[in-house]
Amino acid sequence: MTPAARRDALRELLRAAELDALLVTDLVNVRYLSGFTGSNAALLVPADGEPGTRLATDGRYTTQAAAEAPDVPRVIERACDRALVAAAGVDGHRRLGFESGHVTVDAHAALLEVASEIGTDPTGAGLELCRAPGLVQRLRVVKDEAEIEALRAACAAADAALADLIGAGGLRPGRTERDIAAELEQRMRQHGADGPSFDTIVAAGANSAIPHHQPTDAVLAAGDLVKMDFGALRAGYHSDMTRTVVLGPPADWQRELYALVAEAQAAGRAALAVGVEVSSVDAAARDVITDGGRGAEFSHGLGHGVGLEIHEAPALSATGAGRLVSGMAVTVEPGVYLAGRGGVRIEDTLVVRPDGAELLTLTGKELLAL
Ligand code: ZN
Ligand code: ZN
Repeated sequence: MTPAARRDALRELLRAAELDALLVTDLVNVRYLSGFTGSNAALLVPADGEPGTRLATDGRYTTQAAAEAPDVPRVIERACDRALVAAAGVDGHRRLGFESGHVTVDAHAALLEVASEIGTDPTGAGLELCRAPGLVQRLRVVKDEAEIEALRAACAAADAALADLIGAGGLRPGRTERDIAAELEQRMRQHGADGPSFDTIVAAGANSAIPHHQPTDAVLAAGDLVKMDFGALRAGYHSDMTRTVVLGPPADWQRELYALVAEAQAAGRAALAVGVEVSSVDAAARDVITDGGRGAEFSHGLGHGVGLEIHEAPALSATGAGRLVSGMAVTVEPGVYLAGRGGVRIEDTLVVRPDGAELLTLTGKELLAL
């Protein structure tokens, strides 16, 4: 879908919200709606049609904005958001939505000041700033095929990096968590990643029981569970996967723990279907772990949406609301964490399809003893 088609889809939401236009200041949403990837920008999207659409950025990005968003008139101004509020006033808009989940209190005060300077018309109407949270996020939740292709490439880079790391004998006693994390990130780049999609997690031994452990100089030892949670960034899209391996022959408790998490992960994947409540996907996986007596040690939600951000809607959790729609990209990542001993998490990125879920993470899920 082109940025212009996305702006068209947004207009429907603006009309339903009775807004004359939306001031987009979340840079991820600016990128989604215009193609522009610079670090300072805002976009004005009118509800009544494409004329009046403007992209504001500063002088550093004149060339880049023209190349990335050739179909949107540009405004070169350092204070992008304020420039577009003024432009909305000139265009005669009355109800201007803004991304209230993203605008700071200070920025809002500055926008109000601009709005108050816009002259009132003979009827006494001025420019009203209206809270409009999450409108663009509602569109982003369903991915088109080009977005899914970017996610697929990001997942492939992460799969290939792990295969290379294992193939080269990189997971072995004596190396540090930090070494492994750096190597995974380097290998993802070799496979076309623009970078890691978030700070790589490598957690060995007892550290594997910490869900979001940051890699340290801790040394991998024989018998350790080693949990790796990582992903690649491709064309702005994030992949996310977790695998847990064991160094040497697994102990019975490690084998049992792994089997339980793998069964829960399979149940979560199998529950992904169009029209299903997100909370019931969480429940499908969580019930397996609860029945296995480890419910209290599965201390986070089952998964989350992925796309232009590493964590986005929908949340696959007990408290998540809404139903799955074809084209949603989500993770399924149950984990069980035994404090002081070790933990197992298994995570894939998938796309919801009319006939089930398409797996984008292709690395196998049998317990690897290295
Ligand atoms: Zn992850
Ligand atoms: Zn995740």
